[in-house]
Formats: sequence, structure tokens, C-alpha cells
Amino acid sequence: MSAGQETAPRPLPKPGAPPYTDCWSEEGLLTPDVIATPHGIAFPDEVPLDRDRWGVLWVRRALRRGQGKPVYGTAHTQRQRDVMRRLRCHVCNGPADRDDRGVLWVIEDRRGDWEDWPEGVPTVHPPLCLRCAPRAVRECHYLARTTWVALRVSNPEIVGVYGTVYQLTRGELVPAGRETVRYDDLPALR
Ligand SMILES: [Zn+2]
Repeated sequence: MSAGQETAPRPLPKPGAPPYTDCWSEEGLLTPDVIATPHGIAFPDEVPLDRDRWGVLWVRRALRRGQGKPVYGTAHTQRQRDVMRRLRCHVCNGPADRDDRGVLWVIEDRRGDWEDWPEGVPTVHPPLCLRCAPRAVRECHYLARTTWVALRVSNPEIVGVYGTVYQLTRGELVPAGRETVRYDDLPALR
């Protein structure tokens, strides 16, 4: 896409249109059971698209946006990953707002439990454009129930991934809960 197209005015989304990253009921999980290999977890029928550039295995989901009913509050894995990477607004998929202070983010206010807040604070929420930010804090299943704060991020970085970590226990793979794993934590990534 050219820079000209990137900055052209975008049509307003329909009022109340489901956020771009939310799942639709026809976008079911297609993830097979994970298996253990000497290099970590894998799918038995794995294809290169199943992993990101850091080698992390991602859940598979059907890509059928707009089909069935919106499943509010459940992020579509691939769209979420895409807007994070390209710094798009997760509500309308337009460019996230950026000014000379940085890109606009609205995240949970964790200033009490993060040293050096808000420097380096990780979030799984993608950025927003100015037009969608008010709607996000009003309607987002997560933000609407928490104390939020708007931030400008001068140097956003993809630092990790949030998901299910598996452990091999007596030869069997067991889900060991969900957590954020940094991309420089190689053993955990596997
Ligand atoms: Zn937007």
C-alpha cells in the first residue's frame, strides 16, 4: 500500500460494527492437538504459517470475518497479531493514531505494580486511532471493567507473546496455564 493510500480518509465503520480483531461465530478453532518433539511443541501436520518469525506455534482459526455472529471479547489470533505488527487500530483496522509523542495506546492502569511505569510495560492490546479510542474504553470487554490510561508510545516493540505454555510431565504434554513469554526466553518459547 502506498503512503498516499495509507493517509487517505477512511470510511467510517458502521455504528456498533464489531471490532476488527473480534472473532465471528464461523471462525472456529482449527487447532490440532499439540505433540512434543525434541525442539518443543508442534502440530502433527504443521505448515510454515503455523509459526511466527520467532518460531512460536500459533493456534489456528478459520478466517471468515463477517460470517455468523460476532463473538465480542474473543480476539481472532491472526488479526490480532497482524494489527500489532502493523500498528493498526484494532477496532477499525485503520492506521493507529500517531503524533510527535508516539502511537496511541489505551491500556489497563498498572502504575502501582510496575516499576518505572509506564516505560517498558507490556500489553496484549493493539493500538487505537483517535476516532475509535472513546468507543474502545466504553465498550471493550476488558477496558470497560478496569481503570485505563491513554499513552503515547514513542518506540513500540513486539517483545513477546501471550498464550498457553505446555509442560512435558511423565511423557505427556500438559497445559500449564497462560502467560506472557518474551521472545528472548528461548526455552519457554519452545
Ligand atoms: Zn480505529
